[in-house]
Amino acid sequence: MTTWQVATVVAAVRETDTARSIWLHIPGFPGARAGQHIDIKLTAPDGYSTSRSYSLSDIREGDTVAVGVEELDDGEVSPFLVHDLEIGEQVEIAGPIGMQFVWPPLDTGAGADKDNGAGADSDTGRGADTDPTRPVQLVAGGSGITPLMAMIRLRETSRPEATMRLLYSARSPEQVFFRDEFAALAAADRLRVDWFFTRTAGSGPRPAGRITREEFAAAILPVASRPLLYLCGSTEYVDTLGEWLLDAGYPIDDIRIERFLAA
Ligand SMILES: Cc1cc2nc3c(=O)[nH]c(=O)nc-3n(C[C@H](O)[C@H](O)[C@H](O)COP(=O)(O)OP(=O)(O)OC[C@H]3O[C@@H](n4cnc5c(N)ncnc54)[C@H](O)[C@@H]3O)c2cc1C
Repeated sequence: MTTWQVATVVAAVRETDTARSIWLHIPGFPGARAGQHIDIKLTAPDGYSTSRSYSLSDIREGDTVAVGVEELDDGEVSPFLVHDLEIGEQVEIAGPIGMQFVWPPLDTGAGADKDNGAGADSDTGRGADTDPTRPVQLVAGGSGITPLMAMIRLRETSRPEATMRLLYSARSPEQVFFRDEFAALAAADRLRVDWFFTRTAGSGPRPAGRITREEFAAAILPVASRPLLYLCGSTEYVDTLGEWLLDAGYPIDDIRIERFLAA
């Protein structure tokens, strides 16, 4: 049975016209791994309740975590989270959830700890990090940047030596989440970001349009560097790019995918 905990909104920042980051303080929260998500439940005064999943975009503070929500025009939950939920208000959350789409990756082989939650047992090696020195290629589509941002932020504070690269496809430069943070990381030479805009071109020479197989292959870390690959976004986007990776010879075990929309 799902265990729900009360969470209080402690901060919120507008990311784009249609998206917002929200920080939630959750007393007793066990902490999370970068890449995990939580379920957020809203309950109306008449008792009707519904929940949706949101990836954590910041896990560094333990019991205070962030989510980044993109509004869907006809959505039931996301417009409320983006426009109406106020600082000081409470929601219910369940999680953290998911052990496959996490960085650093867990050893989920024989004897590994497959429980949900953040508590890996490093003394026994159960759930231990596997080869955290491997280079990482992050691939985001739209709001799929959120769990990848948790990985980028974690790397800055706890594993600055890890090689990480980001490919980020968004509808337009105005639809980019965490714009100032990416600018700061680029200025400090801490993160290479390859941008692709599908509807409105950016400042570079590339016209707007969906990423092609050739562009994708040219932008990401090569097979020979044995990267771990994390893809997150809409089902169509990540499944297409996942196929391209397999065709190009990236081992399936090195590819991790998070889909924001059930197929
Ligand atoms: C593991 C996981 C993590 C997620 N993390 C995030 C996150 O970090 N940020 C975020 O903004 N969203 C995230 N989502 C999506 C989120 O859970 C909701 O599906 C989304 O906010 C829409 O909810 P809604 O109630 O507003 O729309 P609904 O009322 O559920 O749906 C409205 C309409 O939009 C369609 N629809 C539903 N979801 C999507 C979608 N993602 N893209 C396009 N069309 C859709 C539905 O088919 C329906 O027609 C995640 C989903 C999963 C499964």
